[in-house]
Amino acid sequence: MLLAIFAHPDDESFSVAGTLAGCHRAGRKLTLVTATDGEAGRVSGVVADDRKEVAALRRRELLDAAGILGVDRVVTLGHPDGRLDTASGDALVAELTGLVRRVRPRVVLTFGPEGAPNTHADHRAVSRAATAAFFLAGLGTSLPGAGAPWRSDRLYYLTWTGRSGPNGGVEGLPVTCRVDITREIETKRAAFAAHRSQQHHLAHFEEELRPQEEFFLVSGVPQPEPVTSDLFAGLTRDREA
Ligand SMILES: [Zn+2]
Repeated sequence: MLLAIFAHPDDESFSVAGTLAGCHRAGRKLTLVTATDGEAGRVSGVVADDRKEVAALRRRELLDAAGILGVDRVVTLGHPDGRLDTASGDALVAELTGLVRRVRPRVVLTFGPEGAPNTHADHRAVSRAATAAFFLAGLGTSLPGAGAPWRSDRLYYLTWTGRSGPNGGVEGLPVTCRVDITREIETKRAAFAAHRSQQHHLAHFEEELRPQEEFFLVSGVPQPEPVTSDLFAGLTRDREA
């Protein structure tokens, strides 16, 4: 089981869609969480009169993209888009801790603390909360009412290196896992296309599209090699749900 935790609908398709699709093809179960419905973002090519409609539309698009990638379960937390860093950090951490305990993932995946490839405050906030949840979920004295403790095997941040195009962007942490997504490129494109209201970002998406996706091991079971090609490398399947 892989649990991917992001801020907005389309974060998954921009960043790790190939890895998610590859995990699905390898028989892994996938849960995808977005902390907001992305209702503050610009939408184009679709009619949506108010922010509630935009939220509903973007949730539908997320479900479509998740279906294309083979995600088994999508959880949307509905926090205010663009204000995650001012939302109650405790509430978000508690929600994610409870979720880790229910989902029981082997691997948790989220943004790095810098929010790469951009520095969006929501990306940084969800990274902090997911990081806290990864550790706290395993500790019985933390949030004792939020389910039985569960220690995930690894926490990975998506990372982003060598990209200094016209869109700028920041570098992430050093790569410890580089996943070849050559076989999943068209699936990744299809997932991004499912975010119909976000197609004004298509040129940027294509510009950033690479045949590999990159990750940094934050904590957990050491990798068998310094740089692996699989987030689950060296983990036995005995704890698979
Ligand atoms: Zn985002």
